[in-house]
Amino acid sequence: MTPTGRTTDVIVIGGGPTGLLLAGDLAAQGVDVTVVERSAEPDPLPRANGVVGDAVRLLDERGLYRELAGHDRSLRGTLHRIGTRNLGRHPRPAPSFGYAGFRLPLRRVQDRHPVYVLPVPQRALELALERSALHRGAVVRRRHELRSFAQHADGVHAEVATPGGVERLSAAYLVGSDGAHSLVRKQARIELPGATLDGAVSRLAHVTIPRHELTATGALRMRDGANLRAFLPHRTSRGVLTFGSFGSGLTTVSTLEWDAPANDDVPMTVDELRDSVARVVGRPVDLEPPHGSGPHQLRRTSSRNARVAATFRAGRVFLAGDAAHVFTGYGAPALNAGLLDAADLAHRLAAAVLGVDGAGEALDGYDDTRRTQALRTVRHSAVQESLLAPGDDVTARRTTFAARLADPGFLSALADELAGRTPS
Ligand SMILES: Cc1cc2nc3c(=O)[nH]c(=O)nc-3n(C[C@H](O)[C@H](O)[C@H](O)COP(=O)(O)OP(=O)(O)OC[C@H]3O[C@@H](n4cnc5c(N)ncnc54)[C@H](O)[C@@H]3O)c2cc1C
Repeated sequence: MTPTGRTTDVIVIGGGPTGLLLAGDLAAQGVDVTVVERSAEPDPLPRANGVVGDAVRLLDERGLYRELAGHDRSLRGTLHRIGTRNLGRHPRPAPSFGYAGFRLPLRRVQDRHPVYVLPVPQRALELALERSALHRGAVVRRRHELRSFAQHADGVHAEVATPGGVERLSAAYLVGSDGAHSLVRKQARIELPGATLDGAVSRLAHVTIPRHELTATGALRMRDGANLRAFLPHRTSRGVLTFGSFGSGLTTVSTLEWDAPANDDVPMTVDELRDSVARVVGRPVDLEPPHGSGPHQLRRTSSRNARVAATFRAGRVFLAGDAAHVFTGYGAPALNAGLLDAADLAHRLAAAVLGVDGAGEALDGYDDTRRTQALRTVRHSAVQESLLAPGDDVTARRTTFAARLADPGFLSALADELAGRTPS
């Protein structure tokens, strides 16, 4: 082990989207920051397909929007299909967006309650954020893995496994943006209360949908002519189907079923997804394995978590992103929440490191501000999921919900939820 004095002002554990935005923002404000990231490069396995909410504006403010919006020409088609023709120089509010299978008419409230949408593969986002963080002066140490840390009155020491052996890094503060299974959260003994939902099984895979299954506009053909549009969750009496082709050229199909227990001892297959889709929509749909060499998604999840850390701060240690909160995913809120955590925390930490007046209170405010917002996001994800469940009672609630969409106040509140914004 190499003993050192203070290595840096802030150590960021985890170079996913949250950690990389945080590091770039800290460096831009004159803070010495080192990111410790165990993987050699961003995960090649496709994950998120986009950012929804105020984080899109943050990316624009950091000069990244244009590059990311133009990442892939076929994303223009995706934007067109979801009704968000916003590939200008700067983001424009989406005129509509999906919520529990409804299409929210956001155009009516977009001036004061804008919802921005940026379809972009997560890997492209991470590559851009890393480039930007390095350019702004952050140090990113890949193939470095946190083993443990200890904090004392005026700093934090971290033991990090590196290709050259174990090193000890020291800093004034340490941030865990190390994902849902966060070692930082566990070692700081911060609980992750909330719910594990095991009543429904979700299945998701990259597949090819043959042309004969689709209409000219890309909707899935149904025998009764009520064809299913891409990108919108479709609720049936048996579950939920969502599908769409993203800029990567891959088509993602996912189902959510409440009454079809899965055997988690066997690996998920495209055949299993095909059976699930047939149950949900009531007819067989040809699905083929995806073209290309991959890597491709093939996932089954029998239990999903909706949890928020009991605190986002333990002394000199902070949590952000998936390390601080895990959502069931409806409304695609996770990336937005993590990036907003990062920008908020960067301001507060920079003030503390640079000795700005009032920095102590600002640091204290992080937990309250961002945890309150995370709890709100858990709630709105849960509301969306509950409105998609089968049953006559849910159908009745959906009718009431649809009627309330005529109320601009209600629509504005939903827009703020999607944006990850404190309701005004
Ligand atoms: C299939 C799938 C689809 C998704 N789709 C969407 C979507 O459409 N929209 C959306 O908003 N979200 C989506 N998500 C969620 C989104 O991917 C996550 O919310 C996002 O990655 C969280 O970013 P993060 O930086 O907080 O954590 P992560 O991306 O998990 O990054 C954590 C980083 O920490 C590193 N790390 C962990 N432990 C250590 C350690 N001890 N030492 C050093 N490094 C460490 C990891 O290698 C990783 O790079 C999806 C997720 C999946 C799996």
